[in-house]
Amino acid sequence: MNETATPLPAPLPQKAPAERAFHELQALLDNAGAGIVFIRAREVVRCNARFAQLFGYRSAADLIGQRSESFSLGRVAYRDLGRAAFPVIAAGQPYVTEREMRRRDGQRFWARLTGSLINPAQPDEGAIWVIDNLDAQKAAQKQLEAALWEKQTLFDNAMVGIVYLVDRRMTRCNGFFEQMLGYGPGELSGCSTRTWYASDAEWEDIARRSGPVLMRGESFSGEVSVRRKDGSIIACEVRSRALDPENPARGSLWIAMDVTERKNAQASLTRVQAELERLVAERTRQLSETVQTLHREMEERRADRDRIHWLAHYDALTGLPNRTLLAERSREAIALAKKDGSPLAVVFVDLDHFKHVNDSLGHRVGDALLVAIAERLRSVVREKDTVCRLGGDEFILLLPGASAHGAERVAGKLLDASRQPYQIDRHELTMAPSMGIAVFPQDGMDFDTLAQSADVAMYRAKQGGRGTFCFFTPEMQAHSARALMLENALRRALERDQFRLHYQPQLCIATGRLRGVEALLRWHHPELGAISPAEFIPLAEDSGQILAIGDWVLRTALAQLRAWQDAGHAVPAVAVNLSAVQFRRPGMPERIAELLEEAGLPAQALELELTEGAALDDPYLAGVTMAQLQALGVRIAIDDFGTGYSSLSLLKRFPISKLKIDQSFVRDLGDDPSDRALVSAIVRMAQALGIDTTAEGVETPQQLDFLRAQGCTEAQGYHCGRPMAAQELLAWIAAAGATA
Ligand code: C2E
Ligand code: MG
Ligand code: MG
Repeated sequence: MNETATPLPAPLPQKAPAERAFHELQALLDNAGAGIVFIRAREVVRCNARFAQLFGYRSAADLIGQRSESFSLGRVAYRDLGRAAFPVIAAGQPYVTEREMRRRDGQRFWARLTGSLINPAQPDEGAIWVIDNLDAQKAAQKQLEAALWEKQTLFDNAMVGIVYLVDRRMTRCNGFFEQMLGYGPGELSGCSTRTWYASDAEWEDIARRSGPVLMRGESFSGEVSVRRKDGSIIACEVRSRALDPENPARGSLWIAMDVTERKNAQASLTRVQAELERLVAERTRQLSETVQTLHREMEERRADRDRIHWLAHYDALTGLPNRTLLAERSREAIALAKKDGSPLAVVFVDLDHFKHVNDSLGHRVGDALLVAIAERLRSVVREKDTVCRLGGDEFILLLPGASAHGAERVAGKLLDASRQPYQIDRHELTMAPSMGIAVFPQDGMDFDTLAQSADVAMYRAKQGGRGTFCFFTPEMQAHSARALMLENALRRALERDQFRLHYQPQLCIATGRLRGVEALLRWHHPELGAISPAEFIPLAEDSGQILAIGDWVLRTALAQLRAWQDAGHAVPAVAVNLSAVQFRRPGMPERIAELLEEAGLPAQALELELTEGAALDDPYLAGVTMAQLQALGVRIAIDDFGTGYSSLSLLKRFPISKLKIDQSFVRDLGDDPSDRALVSAIVRMAQALGIDTTAEGVETPQQLDFLRAQGCTEAQGYHCGRPMAAQELLAWIAAAGATA
């Protein structure tokens, strides 16, 4: 340091102690921590190294003679300093100030200046200034101030409550804490912390939880319930730390945050979430239900569609293809036949007397029988053939690749199969089919024509004796058209009053007296003219119309007889033809009794003419019905005897009062010996059984003579009397009476 010290001015002639004092001063100057300068007449007289260093000079010597103004910021500052300092130092006081000074390079720095006159009595001797650099101190202070300011700002503006506690009392808190708890500024100062706890227990609890943590110098964090001034409770999250863990008496700092809303929000969020989850689960359940329902509906719809398709193409009762499916298959089969020239046949099948089963045994049995028949039909054809039920008792077989010969074989097999009776419940039923065969292409180029041809052929088969089959021939067409027309016209004949009854006398051969009359139905159609019962009765039987028509015949015949008798004419009885269909109808005997009652006639006045077939189709039922009729007193005649079964057992088993020998035997009595033998055998056999005989179709006296010779009881025929209208018969009776 010495080398930087300015050399001492030439020593004044002094005594030794003064010299020593000078050296001592020099040492002081050199080692002082502060800058020291002597100023006289506004110039530096002497300074120490520290001063030179402070103002940026290399050595104290460089400053000798330097103007003191150069250390100030400028002239104004220099004067200002002078004016402030002078009065003080002049009064012998040290002047202390803090000012900004300027270094040699112009840089400023803060300094504390302490000035005093060397000799207040002689201001000219100059002044001495001690300079301390305050820059570091100032900077530190600035920093401290800034930190304090920041801290205060934080304290005042924090969005959390900040509380200083000492010994569980509040020493200081920020405004936010007061607001949080609903207190006014300063209201809580000095208060016990117990103020904001709802209970002693809670107050103790927080102390217990936080105390040890704070003592360890760690920060405590937790949640507490805090009671506001208005009594309401809020949830606070707190965090605290001891100000000096070594010295608990210095207290602790607490930061509190109101989390009530957050907690509420969280709770409601949880609630909403739970609700949402519930809704989602509910919705999911509904959706899956909907999906299930949808699946089910789709299944049902598919099943419906299948069922509809099935119903549209199959017969519900028998499960056989129906007309629609048949039409489709036949189109394909015909197309194929056309293409490769292969044959194809259509067989129309109609069951004989099926209606009787329905009428007498009921539809249930009828249906079961149809199902059984359908099965049998299927069993006789090949896989590629189609068996279709048209409805009722009608079926069609489509036989692709079958020639006329092939179709004939199928028909034959069917007839064979039909001989085996069907067992339906306790009924043993036989059911023969009548079949018509049409062959592609000669009988029709398309299916409709083929089916129609087969239908016509079937019709012919029925007429030809049922239980058989027939091939279509072009001549058949015309006839079947008439049958159709008649069937249609027949439907309206009753209501349009187109029926009449004619009566044919039945005479006692022995006496020639009138024994009775046979009522014979006449149908006069306005356009078609007179139509034979032989033609329309089978049609009426097939369509079921015979029941209504037969009823009308019975009622009309009985009414007529009653009228004649009332008028005093000697007509003892009337014979009425009863169709097998009528005979099998349940309740038939009761109906007859009713009609007799209605006409007011005794049962003996009525004779019913039945064919053998009617009795033999179901002998058991026939026996029961006949017994009922016999009990009534109604007589039964077997019509057209000899043409059917001519069964002897029939005559023995049933209560029959008369046989009507069919006119085919009577016609040839003159020249056919076998007919004569037959007629006489019938007559004798009947006599043996005590049964009357009536010869039908007696046209000549010779025939009558022969019959009389054989002992035949009655005669009926043109020779005796034609069938006549009721009025004509009266005239006939009158004439006969005249001749008798
Ligand atoms: P049927 O019961 O055997 O009736 C006798 C048929 O022979 C009648 O024919 C009659 O006109 C005819 N006839 C009578 N005498 C002679 C004769 O000397 N020579 C010839 N060639 N024929 C004679 P019709 O009236 O045409 O009746 C035919 C068949 O129609 C009847 O045969 C009967 O089976 C049926 N029929 C007629 N009326 C009814 C009826 O009201 N109900 C039912 N179910 N069938 C009836
Ligand atoms: Mg008859
Ligand atoms: Mg007859």
